[in-house]
Amino acid sequence: MGNTYVIVAETKGGRLRQVSLEAIHAAALASHEEDKRIALLLGHQLKEAADELARYTEVILIDHPDLASYQAEIYFAALTQALDPIQPYAVIFGHTAIGRDLAPQIAAHLNAGQISDVTAISGSGDAIAYTRPLYAGKAFENRQFSSSPQVITIRPNNIAPAQPASTSSSITELSYTPSTSLRSVIKEVVSKSAGRIDLTEAKVVVSGGRGVKSKAGFQPLEELAEVLQGAVGASRGACDAGYCDYSLQIGQTGKVVTPEIYIACGISGAIQHLAGMSQSRIIIAINKDPEAPIFKVADYGIVGDLFEVVPILAEEFRKL
Ligand code: FAD
Repeated sequence: MGNTYVIVAETKGGRLRQVSLEAIHAAALASHEEDKRIALLLGHQLKEAADELARYTEVILIDHPDLASYQAEIYFAALTQALDPIQPYAVIFGHTAIGRDLAPQIAAHLNAGQISDVTAISGSGDAIAYTRPLYAGKAFENRQFSSSPQVITIRPNNIAPAQPASTSSSITELSYTPSTSLRSVIKEVVSKSAGRIDLTEAKVVVSGGRGVKSKAGFQPLEELAEVLQGAVGASRGACDAGYCDYSLQIGQTGKVVTPEIYIACGISGAIQHLAGMSQSRIIIAINKDPEAPIFKVADYGIVGDLFEVVPILAEEFRKL
């Protein structure tokens, strides 16, 4: 009998996150054909997301009002209730805020080893290697597990998503016995960007720095992002200056993004910013200063005023 790989799926606004489909593919890459792959979905009123997930793999759904919003203790209790009888060989999370929070707790609970922030999976049989970045993306290492159970988190936007099967797999609903929590939700704050494309999963990111000069200065960047069906990001310089919300910050102390196209507008290219975006497939930099360090990592550089260049780009892309 094969081993069981459990993928902990996530939703945002009731919709399945792209990284969960990438995690299903990661499970396929890491496992053998005879192994079992199960997606575990926790939350409330997630029938549609469960149906969508079942197009890719077998699903276990835990639907309970207590799981409507993420709380570490409650999610941990629900997860362990589902995982313990399965005795998984591996548990795979997205390297998201929730995945980063839960994975080490689950690893400790299962007495498992953990490899985090995986960007690629290679090898076959018992020699599966997990690639992960080191030194803020300056180097990569390949790691292997020497034992099981195994806990893995995968960086969004790096492993291709799974493809749907021709028929849907089964959905098993598990009941959840509520656990007592020391905490309770007093207020839920939903960021304004909710519903837009998730920054860490976006294929195109248009990012603004201190060169954007004001909150209003982000408007042309938002328009360009909309035309390209992308998301807006920012440097810490722009966040510190109050031009945008910290949820947009990219870099060492912000989010790590690896889109197909990263457009840096009025960003100097400090090392801490590069840590969050240097692995993007194509980097386009727009900066007035031809000596700006961002040009050293850029595939395409435009020396010019972003307030002139960005609207022209939006206009030209709109024509396509
Ligand atoms: P600046 O360095 O001021 O650059 C602005 C750029 O805009 C300049 O290159 C200028 O030529 C250009 N410009 C100005 N006007 C225009 C115009 N009209 N058109 C075109 N270009 C124009 N930073 C991050 O981004 N993310 C992090 O996670 C992060 N973490 C940090 C952690 C630590 C511990 C520390 C110490 C720093 C961290 N920083 C981080 C801050 C980082 O060092 C830089 O200060 C910051 O990235 C600079 O932001 P910026 O490029 O927007 O601003």
